[in-house]
Amino acid sequence: MYDVVVVGGNLAGTSSAISASLRGLKVALIEKNKQPFMPAHCGEAIHTDILEYFNLNNLDYTKNPINEVIINVGSKQYDIKLKKPLQMIIDRNFIENEFLKRAEEKGVKLILGNGMKDFNKPNEIILADNTRIKGKIIIDSTGIACQVGKRIGLANILRPQDVGVGIQSRVQGNFKIDAMKLWFHKPYGPMGYAWVFPLNKNLANIGIGIMGGQKIDMKELLDRYIKYELKSDYKILSTFRACVPVAAPLKKIYKDNVMITGDAARLTNSLTAGGIRYALLSGSFSGIVASKYINEEIDNLGLYQMKLEKVIKSLTKVYNKKRKMEIEKNLIKGYSRLFSTFYTLNKIAPNICINYLLKTIKKDWRILDSLS
Ligand SMILES: Cc1cc2nc3c(=O)[nH]c(=O)nc-3n(C[C@H](O)[C@H](O)[C@H](O)COP(=O)(O)OP(=O)(O)OC[C@H]3O[C@@H](n4cnc5c(N)ncnc54)[C@H](O)[C@@H]3O)c2cc1C
Repeated sequence: MYDVVVVGGNLAGTSSAISASLRGLKVALIEKNKQPFMPAHCGEAIHTDILEYFNLNNLDYTKNPINEVIINVGSKQYDIKLKKPLQMIIDRNFIENEFLKRAEEKGVKLILGNGMKDFNKPNEIILADNTRIKGKIIIDSTGIACQVGKRIGLANILRPQDVGVGIQSRVQGNFKIDAMKLWFHKPYGPMGYAWVFPLNKNLANIGIGIMGGQKIDMKELLDRYIKYELKSDYKILSTFRACVPVAAPLKKIYKDNVMITGDAARLTNSLTAGGIRYALLSGSFSGIVASKYINEEIDNLGLYQMKLEKVIKSLTKVYNKKRKMEIEKNLIKGYSRLFSTFYTLNKIAPNICINYLLKTIKKDWRILDSLS
């Protein structure tokens, strides 16, 4: 019997496993794939504070700071030049593998290429090869599938509009290395947005993410967008499709001996579909709560919900905004207002603006600091 069995071995799952094993727990991590997808199924844009918090700054891999954001929305273009980078485009594969390595070094039993087939309440995981594994605590980090959460009645079926449908190509070409481009709504990101995220001056992730339920040939649209951005001098190296929840977070992210983390708990910003920071935050925090429970400092997992309630509330607020923006004219109005305000504030007081944003995002980690 393990103290903790984590199901799902990407960023939420590995950070859960590392956090629990760092605190002396006996942990198994189950991942259905043998290794993370290459390239990662992600735009790979993350806030700069994440690298600092997870000791990822001094390692040698692609981390490209963004100083300029060029946004198209409605008939307007906003060119926002930041005093300091708020985001970086990183090699997510490196971080995924680094976290798997850290987990293994901490003694986590890695079970890769053998996913969960079923769950026997209260604590038994049945794997694809019929092996059975038990944990005193189960952590569901299975992404949008929310495999355990669904089986214990915590996750309902998502509305099509609450699924962000994405397609992205890794493209070779010439890019302005420190500038990301975002194109909201039509023609390239209908009810969503298109992006160019440079990894270096010759390589970028170019993608489109839109609200589900629309009948659109996404590959054709992406090819058109790439052609628009790069004219003729480019080469598409690879393309993938993937989904992300753009829904309200689950109302309850734990039940009995189970905690739900990351995309499985629908902890994403439903206007941007960004979820990496919440995957890492909830993953790391679930490991802390697990250790407190196993060490009998607490007698239930309610602390997990309680401490993340602020994050849940703020993401629910974003989701409520997104619901209003499901009507086309509200969507354009909403994004236009957001970016014109950002543009103006940044123009008037660039230092105050960026320092405020950097300070605000850093507050998230207080949840971890308060208990670790
Ligand atoms: C196109 C696209 C672009 C994105 N770009 C960004 C971005 O630039 N920045 C950002 O912050 N966010 C981005 N996101 C969102 C971000 O990728 C997710 O929020 C993040 O990956 C969530 O991490 P996770 O570990 O919770 O889930 P996932 O990354 O989905 O990991 C879930 C893991 O569980 C495994 N699994 C599933 N079922 C089972 C099973 N039965 N048994 C065992 N294992 C299982 C899967 O194989 C997977 O490894 C993007 C999403 C998409 C779709």
